[in-house]
Amino acid sequence: MSRYVYDFIDGDKDLKDLLGGKGANLAEMTRMGLSVPPGFTITTAACREYLRTGSMPVGLLDEVEQHLRAVQVRMDKILGAPDDPLLVSVRSGGKFSMPGMMETILDIGLNDGSVAGLARRSGDERFAWDSYRRLIQMLGRTVFGVPGEQFEVELAAARTAAGVRSDADLSAVQLRDVVGAYKKVFHAHTGRDFPQAPHEQLFLAIGSVFASWNAERAVLYRRQERIPHDLGTAVNVMAMVFGNHGADSGTGVAFTRDPATGRRGAYGDYLRNAQGEDVVAGIRNTMSLDELAGIDPRSYRQLLSIMERLEQRYRDLCDIEFTIEDGKLWMLQTRVGKRTPAAAFVIAGQLVDEGAITLDEALQRVTGEQLAHLMFPSFDTTAAPAPLTTGVPASPGAAVGAVVFDSAAAAAATGPVILVRRETNPDDLPGMIAARGILTSRGGKTSHAAVVARGMGKTCVCGADDLDIGEDSFTVGGRTVKTGDVISVDGTSGRVYAGAVPVHPSPVVRYFEGELTPAGDPLLSAVQRLLTHADHVARLGVHANADTGPDAGRARRFGATGVGLCRTEHMFLGDRRILVERLILADGDTEREAALAALLPLQRADFVDLFTAMDGLPVTIRLIDPPLHEFLPPLEELTARVARADALGDDPGHDATLLAAVRRMHEANPMLGLRGVRLGLVVPGLFAMQVRAIAEAAAARVAAGGDPRPEIMVPLVGAVQELEMVRAEAASVLATVDGAPPIRIGTMIEVPRAALTAGQIAGHADFFSFGTNDLTQMTWGFSRDDVEGAFFGKYLELGVFAASPFETLDTGGVGELVRTAVERGRAAHPELVTGVCGEHGGDPASIRFFHDAGVDYVSCSPFRVPIARLEAGRAATTAAAVSDSR
Ligand code: ADP
Ligand code: MG
Ligand code: MG
Repeated sequence: MSRYVYDFIDGDKDLKDLLGGKGANLAEMTRMGLSVPPGFTITTAACREYLRTGSMPVGLLDEVEQHLRAVQVRMDKILGAPDDPLLVSVRSGGKFSMPGMMETILDIGLNDGSVAGLARRSGDERFAWDSYRRLIQMLGRTVFGVPGEQFEVELAAARTAAGVRSDADLSAVQLRDVVGAYKKVFHAHTGRDFPQAPHEQLFLAIGSVFASWNAERAVLYRRQERIPHDLGTAVNVMAMVFGNHGADSGTGVAFTRDPATGRRGAYGDYLRNAQGEDVVAGIRNTMSLDELAGIDPRSYRQLLSIMERLEQRYRDLCDIEFTIEDGKLWMLQTRVGKRTPAAAFVIAGQLVDEGAITLDEALQRVTGEQLAHLMFPSFDTTAAPAPLTTGVPASPGAAVGAVVFDSAAAAAATGPVILVRRETNPDDLPGMIAARGILTSRGGKTSHAAVVARGMGKTCVCGADDLDIGEDSFTVGGRTVKTGDVISVDGTSGRVYAGAVPVHPSPVVRYFEGELTPAGDPLLSAVQRLLTHADHVARLGVHANADTGPDAGRARRFGATGVGLCRTEHMFLGDRRILVERLILADGDTEREAALAALLPLQRADFVDLFTAMDGLPVTIRLIDPPLHEFLPPLEELTARVARADALGDDPGHDATLLAAVRRMHEANPMLGLRGVRLGLVVPGLFAMQVRAIAEAAAARVAAGGDPRPEIMVPLVGAVQELEMVRAEAASVLATVDGAPPIRIGTMIEVPRAALTAGQIAGHADFFSFGTNDLTQMTWGFSRDDVEGAFFGKYLELGVFAASPFETLDTGGVGELVRTAVERGRAAHPELVTGVCGEHGGDPASIRFFHDAGVDYVSCSPFRVPIARLEAGRAATTAAAVSDSR
């Protein structure tokens, strides 16, 4: 028989797959001897079984009973006993944290009898009735689907009747009446009485926690966070402790360091006389840990020392949930805490300084995506108006958008929006995903809005409590902002502005540009340190895709060690287009040669700039790739112009000539047509002119004392013969240019046939560069421009792929071609250099694959270069202690 239940004392933090994160960490804390209420964990395997069959796995309930007995013995109380009841909570918790997305039910074991026992034993009647009404509410909602508002309405009515503003001010008698009203609501909705049998309550709760794995918001959250859907949740059953037991009690959350900035020192919120979710729901205003020190110094000191021990154990920032019952501190949860991208870098650096982790491990604590976030622009505060208000800076970023007040509107919006709410709850998730930024009037850094926004890397300001938020407008300081008005939200400073505030480059980008030095700045120092280490350990080089001197210069400042792709067709645009037109329309060799001769000096000058910017580093130049008609006006436009001239009786002149050429060159599938090497072989002199421009530019740089390292890359090769012919032509041109350095010639691998015949092609290539954009299009047989808008959304939803294959390399298909080509190419030509110049070269997951496939370098846009460097370093350092703070 399989074992489905583990006592807390039997687990540890490494059993997350089986016990879920919460269960594994409760077990770890129990092991460390911290005061954790006794309890046990039902495994994720039991949940998977339940979800598969729709009923409780055989033997599970017996096992639960057996472990419950052990808890009863330890607590010296019986579940739901009328005189002195044991109460338990039933808590969800999967392998990866999904804050608030699944169910947790507190106070199981209360009924009409035990509520009196609880009141007597605790000497607090008010507390007992408050707990009972919470149970009816939670179990009613989660197990029986009673709409939460129906309870809220009753509670509000009770407040009004009593003339009080807060639930905390309702008396015992008033709460007893609330329980009566709740039971009526329950009966009206379910047609039965509220379940009184404690064990029935327990089993119902366990089932509903299992089922909450597939709640809509949980599914959505997993999709967003790329958490697999088949893991299931564990269920933790533990003895209740009571933070709502008067002024010496309370509940809180805390972080061992500031999750927004990474600053050292405990950070947290505490709410007196409260239970569970109250503190994170942002319902009442919380006190800081410093204030807790004032009212309960003993618990405060204990808490700090526990936090220190947890940090040592987990070697990372931890967040915790705790409850104080009558001055006794209880630990209810811990985990490696979520943090902002800036905090991730700062903390990784601090932990190295503290000797807690190595630099290799530090690289595993940050990601390329986080670095990308740090490179986002921020508001130019010198150009900003006076802020409307300032709230708690909960998740950094600069968001500008139109105000919306409900999540459905945010999710439906087409333009950028800011979701404005009093507070958020898990049902707001679709709107939070869709919004550029989130603004709330209640709750602190640990509120739902803050935690979820940080996890998503979304800008959030919360607790802006002078906002008066209505249905479709908010007012602040006498000003009214309505639905659709644009505001700017600064998640770094907490400021909120009316209108669109201009943005400026991030400090991290300015540091890469050489405009800021890292000294004295914790974030820049950490970025510098981790990137330096990444460069040191990386096997994969990082080049940039750059077509101009300025782009190449920036790429170099950002750490690129070469240009992996210069697209020469970009040099044929603007006022040079007319020269290409002459080339296309040329009637005979003489006209064509004249057109090419006019292009030559322009190309040469471009290359001189590029070689200057990348002096001493390789510059890979791709010969012209797109179909030539892309340089002519579109067919429809020409047709219309000629038709108009005809109608007016004018002479269409040059337009008629162009139209004839465009018609002649028209292709049904240009992506699969006359382009790349095919063009080079069909249009005499075109490639030769480009090769000459490259060689002459290099010779000029050598003459000027430079060190140019050009490489010539032939696009779209599918057969070795194509490459052989281009090489022969290039060789004959190169032989006529004096003073040029040796120039290597290689090919792109972007047609599946090239990957499959890589062994032959490598015999004539000095290097391969994988053009993974085209390789993806041709391997899947779809054209990107046509398919992304048409059905990718559907495909992602259907799960045909988890991410667009244009964003993250399809390792199973396209990746196999890359591997094959590298292997066959190297076997035929051991010195063959291999690189990647498709957009995947800047994508973290793809970079890891390229590292594993043995590729020599990736090339990406200049802005992605630091991200690729970091990821190359991460790929090279084995994940000794991977911290998963998801
Ligand atoms: P989530 O995963 O959404 O954080 P939790 O399982 O942590 O949900 O529970 C929600 C709240 O209930 C937490 O604030 C927690 O502290 C509180 N809680 C859970 N179990 C107990 C318990 N045994 N005694 C007191 N409070 C509890
Ligand atoms: Mg929790
Ligand atoms: Mg291509």
